[in-house]
Amino acid sequence: GLLWGHRVVWHRSKSSLSDVKERTLIAIKPDGVQRRLVGQIIQRFEQRGFKLVGLKMLQASQDILSEHYCDLRTKPFYSSLLRYMSSGPLVVMVWEGHNVVQTSRTMVGSTNPAEAQAGTVRGDFSIHVSRNVIHASDSVEGAQKEIQLWFQSKDLLDWDCWDQTSTSE
Ligand code: ADP
Repeated sequence: GLLWGHRVVWHRSKSSLSDVKERTLIAIKPDGVQRRLVGQIIQRFEQRGFKLVGLKMLQASQDILSEHYCDLRTKPFYSSLLRYMSSGPLVVMVWEGHNVVQTSRTMVGSTNPAEAQAGTVRGDFSIHVSRNVIHASDSVEGAQKEIQLWFQSKDLLDWDCWDQTSTSE
C-alpha cells in the first residue's frame, strides 16, 4: 500500500468528491489493437493515477459508430473513418478521476500526429491522422454521451481503493 498510499488519502478527502468522479471514454482504435499497444496505453492511464471503471473489447457496428461520430458526418473522410473504426476490434474503456477529460486529451495528443507532442500517445505511436491509435472524449458533456452510448451503467464499476489499515494487520 505505501506506493499508492497518497491516492488512497486523496479519495478519502470529502471536499471534492464530484470532480474526482469525472469520467471519460477512451477507445483504442483497431490500429492500436493490431500493433499490440493495448498494454502500454492502459499502463499510461493507470500510472497517471486514473481509475479504470469499465473495459470491453468489441468490433463496432456502423450504427454505433455513426452515432459516435455524428458531428463528423459531413466531413470528406467520414466514410473511410467508419470503415477504419469497424475494421477490427476496439478496446473501449471508461476512466475516472480528477480532470480526467482534459488530462486524457493532453495524454492522447493532437488529432493530427504531425502536431502531437512526443510523450503523448499519438506523438509516440502514430504518424497519420487516419491511423491515430486512440480516441478520447473532448468534453465532460461529450464524455457522458459517449459513455452512455458504449456502456450500460451496470457494466461500470464504482470500486474503492483498499484501505491500507485493513491490509496491513
Ligand atoms: P479527435 O479524435 O482528436 O477528437 P476529431 O473529433 O476531429 O479528432 O476526429 C475524429 C477522428 O476522425 C480522428 O481521431 C481521426 O481518426 C479522424 N480524422 C480526423 N481528421 C481526419 C482527416 N483529415 N483525415 C482522416 N481522418 C481524420
